[in-house]
Amino acid sequence: MNSPATQHQKTTSARLLEGRHAIVSGGGRGIGAAIAERLAGLGADLTLIGRNAATLERAGAALAAAHGVRTYEAVADVTEAPAVQSAIAAAAAKLGAPWLIVNNAGIAESTPFVKMTDEHWRRTLDVNLTGTFHGCRAVVPMMLAAGGGRIVNIASTAGQVGYAYVAAYCAAKHGVIGLTRALALELAKKNITVNAVCPGYTESDMTVETIRNIVAKTGRSEADARAELARLNPQGRLIQPEEVAAVVGWLALPEAASVNGQAIAVAGGEVMP
Ligand code: NAD
Repeated sequence: MNSPATQHQKTTSARLLEGRHAIVSGGGRGIGAAIAERLAGLGADLTLIGRNAATLERAGAALAAAHGVRTYEAVADVTEAPAVQSAIAAAAAKLGAPWLIVNNAGIAESTPFVKMTDEHWRRTLDVNLTGTFHGCRAVVPMMLAAGGGRIVNIASTAGQVGYAYVAAYCAAKHGVIGLTRALALELAKKNITVNAVCPGYTESDMTVETIRNIVAKTGRSEADARAELARLNPQGRLIQPEEVAAVVGWLALPEAASVNGQAIAVAGGEVMP
């Protein structure tokens, strides 16, 4: 689909992040890959963090070839603090202090609350919330030492309102927004901004999995399940990853310096704070 954001991306040539180092977790596919593509298009050198070396290397090589930027791929599970810490230290040694981190890695599983296991609850909080904390904690001292930076946490509309059958995910994403707001105030005078971007249902593997789940649990067709998710958006469609990436790219620009502590919905009007 040729969304407005995709068209904008094609026509934007200014390399406003040239020489800046940006880190994206879960940058090998989906929304994270679109964000990495957008940032590379703006000229940023990229570190991709994820769990699959081959996926990351393929994505990094494609970005370097398409945009002439430097890339570094670091294998780390965001739930493991020492792995995140050393991945980001190695990335900084390679590409310099990070100007931007996008804490994007996330998982979403659904279940009726009465069937939720401890494991489901912990895993969801660990990846989405604690993983974001690990990313922030690793970069903040570097940004303070460098005299500035940008943190963008990919939350969700599930961080702004509740949805049935995803209690752990909603709790984790509400937590991400709380962390974002607190850190934004703490760093406000340090030339560091901290914001959350909150997509509605977006065309990615995560949503494919959600649709598969609805089909398996309700017996409805894939088209019906997809239409139900699209109906949540007042514009009646799924969000495209490039539309989320465009907002992230803008938050990294000098002109967005006074946007701080915000949870910005990219959801066609589904959420209005
Ligand atoms: P996705 O499943 O396609 O991608 C998620 C990425 O995170 C993958 O690269 C995966 O490998 C990585 N990841 C997962 N667990 C990890 C871990 N423990 N350590 C390191 N990396 C890990 O999903 P997506 O739709 O691209 O989601 C990206 C972000 O956007 C997530 O935080 C998600 O919660 C959020 N989001 C997605 C939607 C949607 O509808 N797709 C809506 C709102 C918010």
